Amino acid sequence: MIEHFFMCPHCWQEISMLLDPVYSQTYVEDCEVCCNPIEIQVGFEEGELTSFEAREIGQ
Ligand SMILES: [Zn+2]
Repeated sequence: MIEHFFMCPHCWQEISMLLDPVYSQTYVEDCEVCCNPIEIQVGFEEGELTSFEAREIGQ
């Protein structure tokens, strides 16, 4: 697992998330600060993070 730091789209705090660098995926995680759901989209190539997007849900 790799730890990735990014800005929460709800509360703009820097939070970190553990990513499984196996395959590209989209999933939903709750922010550890404000508890709002964030849609996470990650892409990996050969175990390296190549794209990362975090956006609000239902906007
Ligand atoms: Zn937040």
